[in-house]
Amino acid sequence: MATRTDATTKIFRVNPDQPEANYIEEAARVLRDGGLVAFPTETVYGLGANIYRPESIKRIYRVKGRPGDNPLIVHLYSIEQVPEVAETIPDSFRILADRFLPGPLTMILPKKQSVPAVVSAGLSTVAIRIPAHPVAVKLLAEAAVPVAAPSANLSGRPSPTLGSHVIDDLQGRVEMILDAGPTGVGVESTVLDLTGERPRILRPGGISLEMLREVLGDTVEAPETLDVERPLAPGMKYRHYAPKAPLLLFHGELSAVEEEICKRLASQVEAEEKVAILTFTESELAKQELPTNVILYSLGSKARPEEAAHNLFRYLRLCDQEGVERIYAVAPPRQGVGEAVYNRLRKAAGGNVVEI
Ligand code: AMP
Ligand code: MG
Repeated sequence: MATRTDATTKIFRVNPDQPEANYIEEAARVLRDGGLVAFPTETVYGLGANIYRPESIKRIYRVKGRPGDNPLIVHLYSIEQVPEVAETIPDSFRILADRFLPGPLTMILPKKQSVPAVVSAGLSTVAIRIPAHPVAVKLLAEAAVPVAAPSANLSGRPSPTLGSHVIDDLQGRVEMILDAGPTGVGVESTVLDLTGERPRILRPGGISLEMLREVLGDTVEAPETLDVERPLAPGMKYRHYAPKAPLLLFHGELSAVEEEICKRLASQVEAEEKVAILTFTESELAKQELPTNVILYSLGSKARPEEAAHNLFRYLRLCDQEGVERIYAVAPPRQGVGEAVYNRLRKAAGGNVVEI
């Protein structure tokens, strides 16, 4: 029997800079009462539930089709709320919070007993994030309870960076969607584990390794592996961020990569397969006339990985909408937030990376 997940969904179009107080109050009430509310953050949209309602937390997993061993991030509106969910708070947390919060950095700390086990999938740790988006901040402050929120997409699909993405995935399954237009960063937060000997990045994201090292020095460990088989954060083992079409990722110098893509393209052109190419504005291919079955999406400038981060998930979803059958993607330089873009593309590719 299919799991019952249906609900009547209220959708509010919210002003992203000055959210309407009546919408925020209603959404906060729904959260406190155990309902599910999708809301924008500066990274991607989140699907929130009150952490003190374990049944609601379980519903998040059901609604998303999220595996039960993939813990959720707890969202707070202020540093003052941290002792409510964390057993101990190391100096490194305070130093990083000073510099980067509110913002796209999630930190893992030892969990307080009072946080229900289902929130962190039975782990003794808890992931904490203080988002910067005005809608998220106001909603969390008004709700006045910690809110567990994974990305507001169906599990395995690209994360939502537009209200319409959330509506496509979750309408009829959650109580409320706050649509405040496009999110800013476009890839999820950096997940940093502060429970080990050294701070360690479990998932690259909006705050780069370079930025963290600037504050804490070289003690910050880079992700040891981006291996799909040996994930660091429990959630990283799943094929994620994936459009329907198979995606092949190419890593190397742009012109050499595009030459290789052109070679491979020939057979798809012959078979009249619909192909999408994800590349950068510096592309030579973008200047050429392409066969009609080939769509080219420019992620932005290779020199500004923030642009690719902002655009990536939207293009992956567009590929689905356009009925694309195969995707060739050019990897960005792995610097700054480019590392997070590379990581998401690599996961969307199920680890299929062609080194040129
Ligand atoms: P999402 O909210 O869908 O972007 O996923 C949250 C990410 O944070 C997943 O990759 C989780 O595995 C990771 N995460 C959440 N809580 C913890 C935790 N306590 N320890 C390690 N990783 C965590
Ligand atoms: Mg997610």
